[in-house]
Amino acid sequence: MKKQTEFNEPYQNVIDLQEEKLRKQVQYVYNHSPFYREKFEQLSLTPGDITCIEDLEKLSFTYKDEIRESQRVQGPLGRHAAVSLEDVIRVHSSSGTTGRPTYVGITRHDYDVWTEILARVLYTHGIRKDSRIVFAMGLSFFVGSSMKDGIERLGATFIPIGTGASDRVIQSIQDFNADVLFCTPSYASYLAEYVRQNYDFEPSDLGLEIISVGGEPGGGLPEVRNKIQQDWGAKVVEAMGNADMAPVLFSECQEREGMHFVASDYVICEIIDPETGKVVPQSDHMEGELVYTAIDRECSPLLRFRTRDLVQVDTRPCKCGRKSFRLKCVGRTDDMLIIRGVNVFPSAIKDVINSFRPRTNGEMSIILEEKPPLVHPPLSIKVEHEPDLKENELTVLKKEIEGVLRSKLTFTSDVQLVPKGSLPRFEMKAKLIQQVDQLK
Ligand SMILES: [Zn+2]
Repeated sequence: MKKQTEFNEPYQNVIDLQEEKLRKQVQYVYNHSPFYREKFEQLSLTPGDITCIEDLEKLSFTYKDEIRESQRVQGPLGRHAAVSLEDVIRVHSSSGTTGRPTYVGITRHDYDVWTEILARVLYTHGIRKDSRIVFAMGLSFFVGSSMKDGIERLGATFIPIGTGASDRVIQSIQDFNADVLFCTPSYASYLAEYVRQNYDFEPSDLGLEIISVGGEPGGGLPEVRNKIQQDWGAKVVEAMGNADMAPVLFSECQEREGMHFVASDYVICEIIDPETGKVVPQSDHMEGELVYTAIDRECSPLLRFRTRDLVQVDTRPCKCGRKSFRLKCVGRTDDMLIIRGVNVFPSAIKDVINSFRPRTNGEMSIILEEKPPLVHPPLSIKVEHEPDLKENELTVLKKEIEGVLRSKLTFTSDVQLVPKGSLPRFEMKAKLIQQVDQLK
């Protein structure tokens, strides 16, 4: 009989290893984390009740809000932490979208695990010892400083530039003949536009071969990805992780048909139905919310942590030869809008808007007058249009976009076409939703 969570790993000996590490981890958190001991006691469980992956379902979930609360009660690392600050060699903070920032500490051992996973992520991308990598993401971000460790362990060359320095990014790509760029998908598009406006060459003339995008889900959208690939003449690959678990855990190979899970000896994944909390039955194609359980963590091992990432899982072997499961992130449960009972993701709306290129440049903003997720139709969306469209062409475009949104995503919208460049740009992350009270 196939185990429900067997998709984590096709090899039985690795499943055995996962379960051995799981038993150790559960005993460890029970002994060292007041937060988890309390959870076990509330459920009348002891570590001995968790012996295999299926037993995870006996445990309750860990929510981000609980972590925040745990650190409010007992700072700085929280009641869930299993070591004292003395054993911590680095602390990262994750800002999140709401509430106070949370801190994530790592011990020397956690550092080694993270660095190992990062090196695997890079290798899966196709990055090798002779690669020269310009890093144009936030360096204070935990992904930034950890990526440095992974790149150095692999032996490739790390060239950190950070954000808000587009000329220096371009200069360093030229100076080092760099072949890899790390940035957010919206920054890759922004930078291409920037090159065209300020230099007398095309972005593709810079000779990048791989652009690794992360930090937001846009890289998974075919329209966004194709646009970046056309602009730069490079392969776009994606990686994904979670601030509270590890900087990255999933990585796209050169086939780019989903991100491979590269950390099965450190983390166990479950796919659950976000509404019922039930584990989704094993199949070639599963869809649901990703849930992580650490099995080799010292500072803050989380059990059944709800990521809010909605993913599509493919368990079939990949053309690249790797057998680990792959996934695509299709949205966040906390970004989700509910319009007349229908779940709508801003990223899906963005995909529709992108399909109207070149009449629009794909820039859009959803304007909400009420607090999400419940929204009353029509949904108000501002979309940038190209300057050479005439009045009657604009009327046609508005009707067409509204028609496709209605037929594809089954909600009614009120699309307002605005001139190119009039919506706010964000170098770090594309912000798809704006609330009216936040607007000037
Ligand atoms: Zn592959």
